[in-house]
Amino acid sequence: MHPEASRLSVQKWKAKSKDAISRYRKKWLAENREKVLLQQRRKYQEKLDFIREVVGTVCVDCTEDRPAAIQYHHPNGRSEKKAPTLCGWEKLKEEVMHLIAICATCHSVRHRGELA
Ligand SMILES: [Zn+2]
Repeated sequence: MHPEASRLSVQKWKAKSKDAISRYRKKWLAENREKVLLQQRRKYQEKLDFIREVVGTVCVDCTEDRPAAIQYHHPNGRSEKKAPTLCGWEKLKEEVMHLIAICATCHSVRHRGELA
């Protein structure tokens, strides 16, 4: 079969089987929930480790250095829709160069301004 014909027949099959595919995906996700959650946690941790290694774990404003207190901020009004740990690796490798390490308190102050 010509590759184009094959592609078209796959598209037709997918369109015709949309509900069956959706049911299969839901069933598969329900049966593999633990595995999927473990994979998501592992990917999150790998990305967080990468960000910590590249950007550091010391607040640029107050020198807080407890890793759990550190967040990552896009300075200069640069804001992304997604948290860096949710980006794909290619996007993350670009984004990480624009991040700064900042503690939760200083991060909040930068975003909301100081309420005198
Ligand atoms: Zn701070």
